[in-house]
Amino acid sequence: MTDKKNAYHKVRMERKKTQIDASIAKANIEKGILLVITGNGKGKSTSAFGMVARALGHDLKVGVCQFIKSRTDTGEEAFFSAQPNCEWHVLGDGFTWDTQNREQDIATSERGWQIAEKMLSDPSYDLVVLDELTYLLSYDYIDKQRVLSALQARPEMQHVVVTGRSAAAELKEIADTVSEIQEVKHAYKSGVKAQIGVDF
Ligand code: ATP
Ligand code: MG
Repeated sequence: MTDKKNAYHKVRMERKKTQIDASIAKANIEKGILLVITGNGKGKSTSAFGMVARALGHDLKVGVCQFIKSRTDTGEEAFFSAQPNCEWHVLGDGFTWDTQNREQDIATSERGWQIAEKMLSDPSYDLVVLDELTYLLSYDYIDKQRVLSALQARPEMQHVVVTGRSAAAELKEIADTVSEIQEVKHAYKSGVKAQIGVDF
């Protein structure tokens, strides 16, 4: 029985290997990827920061723009901004419900977006992270077409990660990889406050 099971496993794995090798051989394009990490679950920004670590590990140059939030005491900023190949900008003014000032939010977004636009036109950045960019579009703080055009006109080999809830359909349309993180549970909903090292 066990011999039969082992033999069957080997046949199945051989078949699987043939299929996987064929699909790997088919994916032979090299290009800068646009990734969108959206959805209501936790893990969007931390996923982007995981890619920052990967890229830096390969000596690539990384630019990070954090929109909306204004806190500069996060573990990610402390860690990554100390890396020589990583440029880190906190470009927010606080949450929209804290500022309560649309005109101010628009001016802040404009200043931030100009920094992002510079990165998106500079091929020396291998990876650009636009953290929480989706909110600038959903609140209409920055013209959507302007953002889409800058993303599409970026250097050919530059990777870009956009995070934030409710990504616009047009943004998902032009992206190469889109992941929607679904919330199953979040500790906050059971009264646990944001934890150092986990949430910031
Ligand atoms: P993270 O930075 O932890 O990956 P995120 O980028 O997916 O989170 P944001 O909306 O940017 O999500 O979250 C910012 C903060 O809010 C983080 O401290 C995160 O833990 C918390 N958070 C994320 N998702 C939820 C949720 N569904 N309910 C409550 N708090 C959340
Ligand atoms: Mg986030």
